[in-house]
Amino acid sequence: MSKKTIESELGSILKQVTARLSKANTLEEVYAVRNEFSGKGSVLQQLLQSLKELSPEDRPLVGAKVNEAKKSIESDIERALLFLANKESIEKDEQRDIDVTAPFHVSNPHVAPFDSIGTPHPLQYEINRMLDIFTSMGFIPFEGRELDTDYYVFDSLNMPKEHPARQNWDTFRTEDNLIPTPHTSNMQVRIMRHLKTAPLRAVIYGRVARNEAADAVHGHTFYQIEGLYIDKGVSVSNMIATINAFVEAFFGRKVVGKIQPGYFPFVEPGIEYMGQCPFCDGVGCVSCKHTGWLELVGAGMIHPNVLREGGFDPKEYSGFAWGLGLDRMVMQRNGIQDIRSLFASDIRFLQSTI
Ligand SMILES: [Zn+2]
Repeated sequence: MSKKTIESELGSILKQVTARLSKANTLEEVYAVRNEFSGKGSVLQQLLQSLKELSPEDRPLVGAKVNEAKKSIESDIERALLFLANKESIEKDEQRDIDVTAPFHVSNPHVAPFDSIGTPHPLQYEINRMLDIFTSMGFIPFEGRELDTDYYVFDSLNMPKEHPARQNWDTFRTEDNLIPTPHTSNMQVRIMRHLKTAPLRAVIYGRVARNEAADAVHGHTFYQIEGLYIDKGVSVSNMIATINAFVEAFFGRKVVGKIQPGYFPFVEPGIEYMGQCPFCDGVGCVSCKHTGWLELVGAGMIHPNVLREGGFDPKEYSGFAWGLGLDRMVMQRNGIQDIRSLFASDIRFLQSTI
């Protein structure tokens, strides 16, 4: 082939490719164009082979032209393939049984993405906030179990059978004699055995159930968050400082705290931590029922029997645990009057709280 023949052949190939691609309606048609014009044994390949018939001075110039044409053909084919693949995928989507009025589309950036629709439930929002605070203090989060045995709910927590404190938790029972957990403390011994080493820092969150009549401030199902800290030489003052640091981070301001004795069988001594109402600075308001104080956290030094059950020698180690009712704190922080509204799924309420 002469230089002239090759050049005119090249022009004709480019024209043919453009014409064929512009008419192609399916991926198969584009694949056919690719096989014919650009792959092995294609006309373009034959043209490249014939370059060696040219004179040494013509060869580089014509060779460059052929290569340029090859690149342009390949990119045209690539573009046609992308266009048709996209078109076919949209057509398939349209044929599927989907809700085309849904206000988002996975491949359309101009429509609002999923995460800007709706908000987390107020309880989930506060769980996340509290876990953030505790994890920033080095605590490892664990989700509680909703169904458990007598052993983890009572025995392991220093409440053997016939212990009168078992009555303090009005538990439900399943037909198989399992207990929908009345507190998140059923995780304490489990976590001690799981983590094994001190310093042990864990935060437990979960849903608990008690057989109580529901009213504006009591629910039979509610949420608890509980912390566990074990190391050598842990004291009551470490406990109070940790609780205070958490409460201040949660309310986002300085909180004056005070403690009073409290009784929980799995701690010794037990305390109740009260915080001066951050909404009225102790003057008295609806949130604090006009007392100026909020009962925030139940806590105490882990009972030696519980430490032993979890595999920690109480002569060597000490620790503290605390727990709080999440629902009540959410109600206080958001000025919610009725605990039942947290579960009523009223969209106006859900949108108004966060
Ligand atoms: Zn108040």
